[in-house]
Amino acid sequence: MQTAAGTLHVVATPIGNLADLSPRALETLRAVAAVCAEDTRHTRQLLAHFGIEKPLLALHEHNEADVAEKLVARLAAGDSLALVSDAGTPLVSDPGYRLVRAAREAGIRVSPVPGPSAIIAALSVAGLPSDRFAFEGFLPAKAGARRERLVALAGEARTLVFYESSHRIGDTLADCVEAFGGDRPAVLARELTKLFETVLDGDLAALQARVEADPNQRKGEFVLLVQGAGEDADARIAEGRRVYALLAAELKPSVAAKLAAEITGAPRKALYGG
Ligand code: SAM
Repeated sequence: MQTAAGTLHVVATPIGNLADLSPRALETLRAVAAVCAEDTRHTRQLLAHFGIEKPLLALHEHNEADVAEKLVARLAAGDSLALVSDAGTPLVSDPGYRLVRAAREAGIRVSPVPGPSAIIAALSVAGLPSDRFAFEGFLPAKAGARRERLVALAGEARTLVFYESSHRIGDTLADCVEAFGGDRPAVLARELTKLFETVLDGDLAALQARVEADPNQRKGEFVLLVQGAGEDADARIAEGRRVYALLAAELKPSVAAKLAAEITGAPRKALYGG
C-alpha cells in the first residue's frame, strides 16, 4: 500500500510582535513532524515561547539546493513539514523557493499559512498609492550597483517598496534623492510592530534630513516606500535625456547632465550615472 504524501506548510511568523503568530500557524507548527527553519536557534526560541518542541531542520540560502531533495523525499514518504523563516513570510527576501519548487515538481501539496510580512505591513500604513506596487527587496550593497538600480527605476509609475538595514539606510536615502529628486513623496517604516515603531513621511529630502539628524532613526529594520513617478516626472526625465543627448555631443558628460537637469528639472542621476 502506498503511503499518502505529506504537506509542506509555508508558515508566516511575526516580524516583531509575537502576538502576531496566528492560531492556525500555532496549530500547524504543533501538528507537523518537523520544522524547516532559516536559523534553528532563532526558531527554537520562538517555538519555546509557545511551548512547542519540534525537530528543527536548517534550511538557509547556503544549503537549500542540497537539502531540498531530502526534504521532498521525506514529504513523499508521508511526513508533513512546516517551512518558516526568521521573520515574516518565507520566500519574501528569505529562503524557501527552491524547496517549494522542488516539492511542487514532485506533486507534493504546498499550502500557505499566511500572516505578517513587512512589505504589506508597511504598505498598509504608508498612505501611498497601493493598488499597484513594485517590491524591489534589498538594493545592491555596492554603491555603484545600487545607484544604477535606482536610476533604472526613476521612471517607474508604481509605488516602490525596498527593504533596508540600519547600516545602509542613510546612503540609500541619499542615493534615492539623487535618482528620484528630493521632492518625491516617500515613507520610511521602521521597527514595525515593535517597541520603537516609527512611520515617517514627507518627501525624500525631508526623510533624508530627519534620518541624518537623529541617530535613533537609523536603528532597527526598515521598509522604504517611494511614490512612483507621475506622468510629469516621466515627461521631465524623457525631456532631460533628450537635452542631455544634445549637450553631451559638445560638453563633458557631467557638465551636460548638470545643465540638462537644471534646464528640465529631471534628477541629474536619471540622466547620467557619474
Ligand atoms: N520575510 C520577511 C517578510 O516577510 O517581511 C522579510 C525578511 S528580510 C531578510 C528582512 C527585512 O525585512 C529587514 O531588513 C527589513 O527591511 C524588513 N523588516 C522585517 N521586519 C521588519 C519590521 N518589524 N519593521 C520594518 N521592516 C522590517
